[in-house]
Amino acid sequence: MLKTFTNKDNPMVFNVNAYLLINEESHQAILIDTAMMGEAIIQFIYENNLVLTDIFITHFHFDHIATLDMLQKELHPKIHIGQKDLAFLFNPETNGTARIGVKFDLVQDDNFVAITAESEVTIDGFTIKAIPFGGHTPGTTFYVVNDEYAFVGDTLFKNKIGFHTKNRDGMMLCDDERFFLSLDYIVDNFSNYLICPGHHEELFRVSEVISNPDHPYHSMRD
Ligand SMILES: [Zn+2]
Ligand SMILES: [Zn+2]
Repeated sequence: MLKTFTNKDNPMVFNVNAYLLINEESHQAILIDTAMMGEAIIQFIYENNLVLTDIFITHFHFDHIATLDMLQKELHPKIHIGQKDLAFLFNPETNGTARIGVKFDLVQDDNFVAITAESEVTIDGFTIKAIPFGGHTPGTTFYVVNDEYAFVGDTLFKNKIGFHTKNRDGMMLCDDERFFLSLDYIVDNFSNYLICPGHHEELFRVSEVISNPDHPYHSMRD
């Protein structure tokens, strides 16, 4: 089962999503991003007698990682992230937690897994394919779960596309050409999956983007 946590309360984070994959038989769970909602996620985990074994991070931006330190301290999961984004987790200036005034005390320990290449793992009964693609951030990584869900971070949204240098001032470390290629990759390869984006409405299909002439995907390079 998939449970979505959407952060609607904070105007700075534009409906950022975290996703909890739950194995209802074993009561194990895997989290994709945090949406700055560690407190609610921990409460849900305890209320439902779950064990959070792993967290997969799509990219290092504060809206996707803040409260990761709280989850680490409380639940001690393994934390997976694209290798090129790993160092930024520990840099509050770059990951933005300092800018928004959030204290972020992530401890570097043996529980971090740096994803260096396309790879597949089975955890808690879920098959997770990691595709480190880059673009929005150097280490932006897509996760395809059970050939059913594709977690794509800040790339393709149902009616928008993610921030990049062309549409957002102050975007650090974003490579727009790679970012556009990452959207092409999703459109070309993820048509059979339910798209779980980093922001806004979840569980849409690539076909809805293709058939919507107003979707900025069609004009992103103009
Ligand atoms: Zn982002
Ligand atoms: Zn974001």
